[in-house]
Amino acid sequence: MKSQWVEADARAMVDRYAADDVNEDIALRVYTSRLIGQDPTLVLHGGGNTSVKTRVADDLGEPIEVLCVKGSGWDLGDIEPEGLPAVRLGSLGALRERDSLSDEDMVNAQRIRLLDAGAPNPSVETLLHAFLPHKFIDHSHANAILSILDQKEAERICLEIYAERLAVVPFVMPGFELSKLAAQVQEAHPEAEGLLLLQHGLFTYGDTAKVSYERHVRAVDEAEQYIAARSTVVAVPRRADVKYTSFAPILRGLLGEGERNYVLCLRTSPQIRAFVDREELASWSQRGVVTPDHIIRTKRVPMLLEIEGSANPDDLRLQIQVRLDEYRNAYRAYVKEQVEGRGLEIKPLDPDPRIVLVPGLGIIAVGGSPGAARIAADVYQHTVDTITDAEAVGSFQALPNADLFDMEYWSLEQAKLGKAKPLPLSGKVVLITGAAGGIGEAVAQTFSRAGASLYLVDRDAEGVARVADALGAAQQALDVTDAKAVTDCVERIVAMHGGVDGVVSNAGTAPQSDIDTCDPEILRSSLEVNLLSHQWVAQAVTARLREQGTGGFLLFNASKAAFNPGKGFGPYAVAKAALVALTKQYALECGAYGIRANAVNADRIRTSLLNAEDVSRRAEARGLSADEYYRSNLLGAEVTAADVAEAFLNLALARSTTGCIVTVDGGNIAASPR
Ligand SMILES: [Zn+2]
Repeated sequence: MKSQWVEADARAMVDRYAADDVNEDIALRVYTSRLIGQDPTLVLHGGGNTSVKTRVADDLGEPIEVLCVKGSGWDLGDIEPEGLPAVRLGSLGALRERDSLSDEDMVNAQRIRLLDAGAPNPSVETLLHAFLPHKFIDHSHANAILSILDQKEAERICLEIYAERLAVVPFVMPGFELSKLAAQVQEAHPEAEGLLLLQHGLFTYGDTAKVSYERHVRAVDEAEQYIAARSTVVAVPRRADVKYTSFAPILRGLLGEGERNYVLCLRTSPQIRAFVDREELASWSQRGVVTPDHIIRTKRVPMLLEIEGSANPDDLRLQIQVRLDEYRNAYRAYVKEQVEGRGLEIKPLDPDPRIVLVPGLGIIAVGGSPGAARIAADVYQHTVDTITDAEAVGSFQALPNADLFDMEYWSLEQAKLGKAKPLPLSGKVVLITGAAGGIGEAVAQTFSRAGASLYLVDRDAEGVARVADALGAAQQALDVTDAKAVTDCVERIVAMHGGVDGVVSNAGTAPQSDIDTCDPEILRSSLEVNLLSHQWVAQAVTARLREQGTGGFLLFNASKAAFNPGKGFGPYAVAKAALVALTKQYALECGAYGIRANAVNADRIRTSLLNAEDVSRRAEARGLSADEYYRSNLLGAEVTAADVAEAFLNLALARSTTGCIVTVDGGNIAASPR
């Protein structure tokens, strides 16, 4: 790797932050932190940390010595000065005199020395930065560095590459003890440019941001060169391709349990494929993580899953269940061994894998949300490179289980995952049709707030892209009357998230014609959109729900016209009445699989379904203004698209309700179900 330092960019950053009273030290600290953070071969997703020792004014205007160190929750790649909270350095450094300091006391010691009481918690590696004397310090978990540190003969290799330029620190868990040890090693090697923390990562330091950063780059570059000189391209015989969507819903269904819902993320590349296809997969992948920090994302080891291409779904389910049981039992045994062996009292974490490796396919990452699954996939993708390179250099060696267990169950590490209570639809994948506006858009907003992972479709490509972008949802343009396109769409959802949990089948049109003189094309087209499309969607989703085996919901947007037709609306009412029948049929036939089918009958919602002219004509026929028309119901209040969305959400969550038609019309006795 090469230095990305550009003098003009560094100066520009100093000038930019000077306007906000941020000093040059901190501005340059931001600059090189970002250079490190933006390179995924150095750090991933909030990993690594950096610091600078500088002087800033306290609240009395007195200049004091502080350590500005990465705050938790910030990512080096886009860090800002407020992501480097200032901690009073003097007495922080004095903590080194203590014999011991618990994790809780360490966190407290860091917090009470913050200049800003509202700042984020300083990094768990703050004391290490504080105890080293250097002005600028950079720390990463670079792939190439880990490939040479995760070795039986790591010390010999480090000496061979770096001689005395980098000093070696044996593995100790991050925290007070490691901070003291690192400071001792540094004092024993005062000329060193940095520290190699075995099975953990690299620290470099210097008097200027540039020196510390470029020492970091040089160290990583030398490791890369050392690996490159020893890597030989070995053609791994390719295993038969495995089709992901043929088993993903089965795996996803078996992974979830009770409150735990997961989405999957498939990752593959030529390097990943070579890794999962090779004979050594079971040996290489089952030794442990490449740096302890990763354990909260990937668990200690991935699950290996062989998929037989020719197996039928029932056999596949059985095979996956057996593997999953083995994995969970092994996880429980690992926890039990650590807990009983050391007399610990902890609440075990869930025993589910976060990474599943499938020969013939790639990495399947497992997470409580698409974001969590993507992070796990990113981390393991780098693990693949690190282990492959480590094996080229020598033999990949992970830490003993006891150390990995300590890291996995370290409260400060678990805190990084956040402890927010899951939302009602967290980890649930929901398809919404007709999502480009009106009720569909409101449903998308409501379900998104409830934590669902959404896949939005609509004929209106621009409209659905707008709604999806605002919510960070996936989307595609889709004509739901095209049965084949609908099946393909559901296949794409499965490829994206590993399965699907429900649908709000909402797309519809409102054609008008007297029924006795109705043009056959108007009626046919209404039946296509307002009835048959719901069948195509429900059929495609139900097929996946049944494979998944975890129930699910089918929600249909019917209409009050199903029970209470209006003159001139025959083509619409006939289709919607049949849609209510379709809802009941699904409730009747799919209840045995835990699949619930319900519908909402809404009325007089301001959407683009009826244009303003139509509305005024209908209002006039009743001697009302348009506003009065919208309010003419038993409650005398206008019904909104958000009200309809709320009803859909309630039905999605109503675990004991199926075959139900809910009215959302402000009250209309003639349209009430009976
Ligand atoms: Zn670290």
